[in-house]
Amino acid sequence: MRNEFTAAQMADPQLGPAAKAVRSCVHCGICTATCPTYVTLGDERDGPRGRIVLMQKMLEAGGEPTPETVRHIDRCLSCLNCKTACPSSVNYQRLVDHSRAYIQDHYRRPLGDRLLRWSIAKVMTRPALVRLGLFFARLGAPVVRILPGKLGAMARMGLAAHPQGPAPFDFPKPDVVRQRIAIMPGCVQQALAPQIDSAVGRVLARRGIELVVLEGSGCCGALPHHMGREDESRAFAKRAIIAFEAGKYDGVLITATGCSAQLKDIAHQFAGDAEWEPRAKKFAAAAKDFLDLATPLPAKARADLRLAYHPACSLQNSLKMNGFGEAVLQAAGYTLVPFGEMHLCCGSAGTYSILQPELSQSLRARKLGNIEAARPHVIVSGNIGCLTHLSGATPTVHLAEMLDWAEGGPKPANLEIPGSSR
Ligand code: SF4
Ligand code: SF4
Repeated sequence: MRNEFTAAQMADPQLGPAAKAVRSCVHCGICTATCPTYVTLGDERDGPRGRIVLMQKMLEAGGEPTPETVRHIDRCLSCLNCKTACPSSVNYQRLVDHSRAYIQDHYRRPLGDRLLRWSIAKVMTRPALVRLGLFFARLGAPVVRILPGKLGAMARMGLAAHPQGPAPFDFPKPDVVRQRIAIMPGCVQQALAPQIDSAVGRVLARRGIELVVLEGSGCCGALPHHMGREDESRAFAKRAIIAFEAGKYDGVLITATGCSAQLKDIAHQFAGDAEWEPRAKKFAAAAKDFLDLATPLPAKARADLRLAYHPACSLQNSLKMNGFGEAVLQAAGYTLVPFGEMHLCCGSAGTYSILQPELSQSLRARKLGNIEAARPHVIVSGNIGCLTHLSGATPTVHLAEMLDWAEGGPKPANLEIPGSSR
């Protein structure tokens, strides 16, 4: 695409990859039909091709972006369907990530929006504060249920959660330890669903993998990163890198696909930083998703259960692990039911369900309509955001909990199916 980026801009370690993405777009529009916001709104500016033009103009011109530009970039889910669909290998991710950081630094949002973004970055990245939020959300449940707008969307996340037991700090040790993996406790998931990491520990122990909590680490930095708050995101990344370097492990795991996608891509946040870039590269090379480690094993799953497996966008488009979840569930003996539009984002997308509640709910309704038409007993995914967002009439359960159950572990607590007495 014609552009006016200067040689100095192209050489900038952060802006350069974004400008390169603009240059490599040939404006063909093949990506447009795969974009959930374009499919929903039908506006070129809410599709990848239109957004690329808006971001190009914003970055070339410099200065404060227009509210219109910010509105259309904010509506992007960062699902990266467009990146997967693009035949010209346009790295839309680098462009949108840099643009979000640019907006954060150059645009003054309305006070309410600034406060909300600040509280997401400060509260949701700290499990103790998330637990406090859950407590108050439950206390005020009748009000929370009818609370409008973005605040209501954030508070209702607390009502959708069913945490079971404390966050695990000790994991079962296999008889023969083949790998010793550090597990990051993360942030939101630890408060909303600590039972997921307990199940992960049991599943991996059966495969000879010992988990050890990565003391000193916390959030992976994805939540602030999605809002362009790069300094805060990098601070979380540095904590994790320092903690990992202090021990001796065969890898580092975080058990939400959105977070493992963030960790595997962490080096680009430090591009051009002579000290941290090489350290971040080593850390990223050691990062694992649960499905990197949970090899398929035959088990005794209830084959009469109909599972709708929802692969998160982060799994499909960032980690490029299409088919891994299906393979491991089917090997365990589960029956998967196909449903329509599996590639479309459910609308959770990190902080999106809070910051863009109307669009997010519209995508949720579309996803649930597709899933429920297949009449499943349970919706399974590997990402806490999707599980919380899709919770409703059909139970939602993490992939690790389903595998654990099939392999002899406890039945997932929120799996309430008539006749499922096993
Ligand atoms: S990342 Fe997703 S929402 Fe954003 S432009 Fe690409 S396809 Fe559309
Ligand atoms: S498919 Fe690729 S080259 Fe074509 S418009 Fe989309 S981003 Fe640009």
